[in-house]
Amino acid sequence: MVMLYKEPQDGEPIKFEKGKWVVPNKPIILYIEGDGIGPEITNSAIRVVNKAVEKAYKSSREIKWLEVYAGEKANKITGDRFPKETQDMLLKYRVVLKGPLETPIGKGWKSINVAIRLMLDLYANIRPVKYIEGLESPLKHPEKVDMIIFRENTDDLYRGIEFPYDSEEAKKIRKFLREELKVDIEDDTGIGLKVMSKFKTQRITRLALNYALQNSRKKVTVMHKGNVMKYTEGSFREWAYEVALNEYRDKIVTEEEINRGVNSEGKVILNDRIADNMLQQIIIRPDEYDIILAPNVNGDYISDAAGALIGNIGMLGGANIGDTGGMFEAIHGTAPKYAGKNVANPTGIIKSCELMLYFMGWSEAARLIEKAINESIKQKKVTQDIARYLGITPLGTKEYTDTLVQIM
Ligand code: NAD
Repeated sequence: MVMLYKEPQDGEPIKFEKGKWVVPNKPIILYIEGDGIGPEITNSAIRVVNKAVEKAYKSSREIKWLEVYAGEKANKITGDRFPKETQDMLLKYRVVLKGPLETPIGKGWKSINVAIRLMLDLYANIRPVKYIEGLESPLKHPEKVDMIIFRENTDDLYRGIEFPYDSEEAKKIRKFLREELKVDIEDDTGIGLKVMSKFKTQRITRLALNYALQNSRKKVTVMHKGNVMKYTEGSFREWAYEVALNEYRDKIVTEEEINRGVNSEGKVILNDRIADNMLQQIIIRPDEYDIILAPNVNGDYISDAAGALIGNIGMLGGANIGDTGGMFEAIHGTAPKYAGKNVANPTGIIKSCELMLYFMGWSEAARLIEKAINESIKQKKVTQDIARYLGITPLGTKEYTDTLVQIM
């Protein structure tokens, strides 16, 4: 095997014991620069995090970053977009900051982003969407936007069980459907399987409910299209209620119970909404949404819509979390038209680092980053994607990063 990586000798891996993060003072954290704007925004985030950690803990704590390759950079070095050596490092160190990676449409390689989530069993994609004063929003009252999306990350159509219409596999499946299940299906039909399991639905429901209870959030809304997709999204809804009512009975109250006059004081409200309706509801009544629990595809769609409510998707960061690992990334993609031009907004990936620091228990450093971003926006020091709506001169990616570091 080619020796691609030299592991830092003065750092240690983060460990996971019974679902808890055990973080040494000098943790080794992997990073993948990513494609397109990835290298610029990822390196910006690392600079900001290093400054926050130094400011919060002087020299007593320090992240030992270790770059691993995936995507175009890996392809150039090894001829493989997701080399085995990178996979081994991910399995060993289990915590990674990741820039966006390109996935071609309708052909080519499968998503490496999804592969990492599946490989480390990062079953919850957590995406906070909160308005920051000073941002331009299409809403009259953007200050009402304060939601956290809990997107199931390992099930649904994202499992990638799909076959082109003219493949042998698709032919076999069509034959099986016709002959065994008496389902008529046209010969020119591509096949993708939508799969959802009870176990996976219930483990993310627990995570969302625990989060709501521990952080004094008021409501958890299950987003589903269960009226049409009865045995996947409909079951998602049913299994979520089941675990809530069986395991959290004294801590939650359902909307239906409230309508019957049950007292909701001190309890987390559990309700559900049909997915298409929710995409308009978060726009016209954003204050009615708090924690949104969604299957994989719905969670993806609603994240970008929610991002628009607070400015744009360049502002949103996310955490992919499992019981034994975490991958932190912005919600947006590689924005290829801005690559290498020093114009991309690094806030999304910086926000994802904020989440990473919270998961590590380094909340003092996380709060410094949050304050610096808020202050920078207040001072109207922003990148072009935000500046264009405010009619002001933008800062470049580097200059915006300098500003955040200086503010801290
Ligand atoms: P995108 O998020 O890259 O871009 C959508 C729009 O938002 C574009 O106009 C883009 O210029 C703008 N934008 C996005 N991030 C920005 C930022 N930080 N600063 C300024 N403007 C920004 O989405 P896309 O065009 O649909 O996808 C491009 C590629 O990214 C595809 O190959 C896709 O598969 C990949 N992608 C990767 C991830 C990931 O790594 N998790 C997520 C989404 C898309």
